[in-house]
Amino acid sequence: VNITIKPTGEEQTIDIGDVIILRNITVFKELDFAKTNFIATVSHELKTPISSIKLSLQLLEKAQTGNINEDQQQLIESIKDDSQRLLKITGELLELSQLETGNIKLNMEKSNPYEIINYAIEAVKVQAEQKQIELVTETEQNLPAIKSDSEKSAWVLINFLTNAIAYSSENSKVIVKLKNENNQVIFQVIDTGKGIDNRYKTKVFDKYFQVPGSHKSGTGLGLAISKEFIEAQNGTIGVESELGLGSTFYFKLHIG
Ligand code: ADP
Repeated sequence: VNITIKPTGEEQTIDIGDVIILRNITVFKELDFAKTNFIATVSHELKTPISSIKLSLQLLEKAQTGNINEDQQQLIESIKDDSQRLLKITGELLELSQLETGNIKLNMEKSNPYEIINYAIEAVKVQAEQKQIELVTETEQNLPAIKSDSEKSAWVLINFLTNAIAYSSENSKVIVKLKNENNQVIFQVIDTGKGIDNRYKTKVFDKYFQVPGSHKSGTGLGLAISKEFIEAQNGTIGVESELGLGSTFYFKLHIG
């Protein structure tokens, strides 16, 4: 039996007894696109009120110093943590939807690697303090500029640091290292946390993947987005890890 498959017009021979299923996927593609756009709009709309909740809490804390008892202070801290988490999730959803609709725009320019590190450390300082985690920088001196979209690279570094803090125990150390390696600058975030089993080391960069049994709430999107951001800049990303001993997440970018 000869059948013609539209719209390609291709002809195919099938044997009696074969089962063929033809499905028009245009409608699914349209739905998918609509869904991605919807996610982008919603996450964008959510960012503003969440940021304003965070700001209001900071103002409340400042204005009320001395009038707030310990229980009330704890409530404020917990609302602050929750709004931070919500901001992280909406930020990740927004980045993902932009990646999926091909809306990623890179702003590649000569960037100072030390500035990227300082910016990222500043962004996670409070989270580290809350767990009494010491952030240590070990940077080689006089490193050259790199060719990078520094906002995207800082985003990745913040994601590495947030994870390192989340998966390490209190009172531990997280090291941020910067060095030159064969005309590339390598950024490393080293923790002494729970580590990652060999079989999950590549999977952690997949969309929505979380190591089974890891208790942290999250979306499993951070590392997948990080991979896209670094590879779009012609860089490489990876992890070395030893279960129970800790992990080193890194990315390498070319000198600019
Ligand atoms: P999320 O942190 O939102 O779950 P990520 O994509 O950032 O998503 O990470 C994916 C998974 O990789 C995490 O759920 C966790 O299981 C594992 N992981 C990431 N960073 C670390 C780390 N520093 N130490 C141990 N496990 C990690």
